[in-house]
Amino acid sequence: MSDRMPVVFVSHGAPDALLKAEDAVACWREIGQAVSKPAAILVVSAHWEMRQPAASLSEAPETIHDFAGFSPVLYSMQYRAPGAPALARRVVSLLSVAGIAADLHSGRGLDHGAWVPLSAMYPQADVPVTQLSLARNTSAAANFALGQALAPLRAEGILIIASGAITHNFGWLDWHAQGDQAALPQARTFSNWVAGRLAARDVPALLAYRSAPYGADSHPTEEHFLPLFVAMGAANGDTPLRYQPRFAYGGLSMDAYLWRDSAPVSTSK
Ligand code: ZN
Repeated sequence: MSDRMPVVFVSHGAPDALLKAEDAVACWREIGQAVSKPAAILVVSAHWEMRQPAASLSEAPETIHDFAGFSPVLYSMQYRAPGAPALARRVVSLLSVAGIAADLHSGRGLDHGAWVPLSAMYPQADVPVTQLSLARNTSAAANFALGQALAPLRAEGILIIASGAITHNFGWLDWHAQGDQAALPQARTFSNWVAGRLAARDVPALLAYRSAPYGADSHPTEEHFLPLFVAMGAANGDTPLRYQPRFAYGGLSMDAYLWRDSAPVSTSK
């Protein structure tokens, strides 16, 4: 037991998750209620990549509608949490101590990888939040190290939310799929493999995930999987609790993970 804040990984799904992925929304709400209210939140989202990691100094982050072709309702949604510029400075300082070059960004807002799950986790939008970008052309190991460098934030009341996807292959998506029955076997296989390796604290296997069954196929590009390594690093290799909302559009695993110091060793549905 300790007073350290948990670490969260969410699969944010398609941009319309708030309208269509009821299971995932319920899961995010449950996680928000399970975690005591943080002093501030740091989100590492797959939807922000820079030359090197960058943390936003925005005082009032705008809600970025970084998608096209979805319901007009989504474009009217706003998530008006205050920014967390002091946290952004602290993040860059911690990374610097760890030898990881990082930048401060003057005013980047919240992309849908951040505000969509946050809208369910903290609907009051009363917890200050900032984002840290991924670096372009980075590796799983580099993101694990980045997460390790951020771990001290957990003792400072900061909730780290890594937002990506356990499977993210657009070729696998069936835009007419409904419910768990339609989950693509390949997506389910890789999701379960990830869960098994996380439960076993098998960091080397996860770092080499592209050699796992359907690993490379699950991620034609890596950016949606890399946030998981940030979370793993910040969690110091602990065993997470697994949440398994239904797959979105057949191919998008919506699995979420919660690492907390007192977490049970087994996985959960
Ligand atoms: Zn995404």
